[in-house]
Parts: sequence; C-alpha cells; structure tokens
Amino acid sequence: MTKKTIYIAGLGLIGGSLALGIKRDHPHYKIMGYNRSDQSRAIALERQIVDEATADFREFAPLADVIILAVPIKKTIEFIKILAELELKENVIITDAGSTKYEIVRAAEHYLKDKAVQFVGSHPMAGSHKSGAIAADVNLFENAYYIFSPSCLTKANTISELQDLLSGLHARYVEIDAAEHDCVTSQISHFPHIMASSLMEQAGDFSESHEMIKHFAAGGFRDMTRIAESEPGMWTSILLTNQEAILDRIENFKQRLDDISDWIKAKDEKTIWEFFNRGRQIRKNMEIHKRAGVDSFYDIYVDVPDEEDVILEILELLRGTSLVNVHINEENREDIHGILQISFKTAKDLAHAKQMIESYTDYQVFIN
Ligand code: NAD
Repeated sequence: MTKKTIYIAGLGLIGGSLALGIKRDHPHYKIMGYNRSDQSRAIALERQIVDEATADFREFAPLADVIILAVPIKKTIEFIKILAELELKENVIITDAGSTKYEIVRAAEHYLKDKAVQFVGSHPMAGSHKSGAIAADVNLFENAYYIFSPSCLTKANTISELQDLLSGLHARYVEIDAAEHDCVTSQISHFPHIMASSLMEQAGDFSESHEMIKHFAAGGFRDMTRIAESEPGMWTSILLTNQEAILDRIENFKQRLDDISDWIKAKDEKTIWEFFNRGRQIRKNMEIHKRAGVDSFYDIYVDVPDEEDVILEILELLRGTSLVNVHINEENREDIHGILQISFKTAKDLAHAKQMIESYTDYQVFIN
C-alpha cells in the first residue's frame, strides 16, 4: 500500500475536519499541517489531527503528494503564488477549500501553468459558526455536498484520486464549473447571508424606538436570521470574491421588493396571495423541505399521540445521542408517517434511536 504525504495548510474548522476525515480511511497516510498560531498547532498535534506541524508554509510543501489549502480565500491565492516558486513533487495534487471558486481557480491556472502539478478547486459545503482546530469534527462533512471545480490543470484522474483520499468524509461529490458554482452559491448562500445581517441591522435600529422587539422576536425571525451569527471575516471575503453574481442577486431582489410594495399600495389581494403561495410551493418542492432544513438523511418518524410529555419522554430515551433537528409535522402528507420527525447526523445514531424507541415505547417508528 502506498503511503502518501498529505499537507494541509490551515488547521482550522475545515482543515482540521478534512485531516480527521482523511485519517479515518487512510490511517497510514502521513498528515502534515501548517498553522500560523502556536495554539492551533498545539491543539492539532494533541488531538492527533496531524502528525507534524509547522509555522512556515514553505517547509512541508515540497514533501507532499497532495496539498490542501484551507485558509481564507485571499490567503489561498497568496499561497498558490508561493507554491509557484517552490520545488514541488512532480504531479502533486493541489486543491483548496474556499467558499468561492472562480478567483481561486483562475489564480491557480495563472500562477501554476508552467509547473508539473495538478489543480482542482474544492468547496466542502458544510460548516459551523465555530472555528479553529478545537472545532474540527470528523463527521462535519457527512452527507454534505463536496464540490470540485476543475481547472486547466485538472487531469483525468485528479478528481477520482481526491475522492479516494477523502472517502472517510462520507460526503457527496459533485463536479461543477467554478463560475457556475459562484452563481449558484450567490443565490442560496451568499445573498441569504446579506439578507440575514440586513434584517438584524434593521431590527437593531428599530428596537431603539420599539423596545418590545427584543422580547417578541421569536420562531420565524430566529429562523430567518440564524446565519447572521457567522464569522464576519469569511463573509467579507466571500462578497469581495463573488461581486458580479452577488450584485446581480441584489438588483434582482430590489425589483422584487418594489413589486411587492406596488401590490400592497394597490391593495392587490389576489397577486399578494399568489406571491405567498408560489413561495410556499417552491419551498415544498426543494430538497431543503424534505430534509427539514438540515443537511441530513438520517430521519426517523415516530407516530406519537398528541399528549402532554410524549416528546419529552422520547427525548429522554435519546439522551446522549446527538440530534440534528426535532420537527413536529403539523400536516398530514403522504410521505410523512408520524408527526414527530427527528434528524440524526449518522446512521449509527439513527439505528440506536430506533432500537430505543421500539424497546421502550409502543409508538410506531418509520424510517424512509
Ligand atoms: P477557521 O477560522 O476555522 O480556520 C482558518 C485557518 O486559516 C486557520 O488555520 C487560521 O490560522 C488560518 N489563517 C487565517 N488567516 C490567515 C492568514 N492571514 N495567514 C495564514 N493563515 C491564516 O476557518 P475555516 O472555517 O476553517 O475556513 C477555512 C476556509 O474554508 C476558508 O477559505 C472558507 O471560505 C472555507 N470554508 C468555510 C466554511 C465554514 O462554514 N466555516 C465552509 C466551507 C468552506
């Protein structure tokens, strides 16, 4: 079995989680890491996320068979420039983890074009509000989409070799052109972050003259604004490296708000109803709805009676199991068996929950 050397630059949430995922299926591979802060390097070594760590980005690059850049987008581009100057192993695979792809892929094509290296852009589409090596989680990418954006330096086997390396992440691999990736994510990720922060800012200003806002903001407002807690530095870089697509989404949305204002002024009840109904139908048809808004396929449905304390009874049985979401289905739909839907991150947790509920209650349990 060939022993490969993997070099991960940036031992934060993403880099650390990638390292743990690689080790899960390839425990004999050597994982070397770069991190600028002493603290994260110490945590990464202590948690055995990496076998060796350096504070000098250049040090391990020439030893690597695969280099993964898991630093902020601007730094990723700087590191690509540095890699262009170094003596690297022939055919080394270089990839990244940045949340936008076009600028990174273009930079790699530009700076690395005369070198015997392979490059493919990557975006592991899972995250958390946590950061740093301390937050690294071997299950972070389970069932998440893992995007590959090819470049002119991507060879026939580049992506399959990376998929093999990353098999322990249990992610879902998809290949998509860098510009198209940035367009799609501008709509479903970047623009919603702008909306969430704008809503928070608007509510903050409004609360100065309407104090009760702080007490009344609940369910819907909370769902709409959860992502406003994300790390500001990362989102600033995303906006500045995907300007065109994001500005296009903002212009499009301004027009939609203008239309809604016009319908309200005209008291156009039918158009307003149709607007809400369209949104409702579109959401129902999206994958997000089937997954109760979380990126997990491990759902259990429990047919519980509408009685006090039933949900508490079930949650008590699942104490210690890591739940992703608990949802009470208020509608009776064909594809829903039972009103209580509980989502888990792993198949193991799902199996455990099924066994516990079936052993200790008479409620019917279904798995899709
Ligand atoms: P993080 O803050 O947990 O880790 C960032 C890492 O980059 C750390 O190791 C830090 O030391 C290093 N770093 C930061 N600035 C640096 C600098 N100027 N010089 C050298 N090193 C520096 O962040 P993360 O969430 O792991 O993000 C890493 C990359 O992954 C980013 O490009 C981000 O766009 C991308 N990404 C993040 C998420 C997410 O939700 N967190 C999801 C997918 C992709």
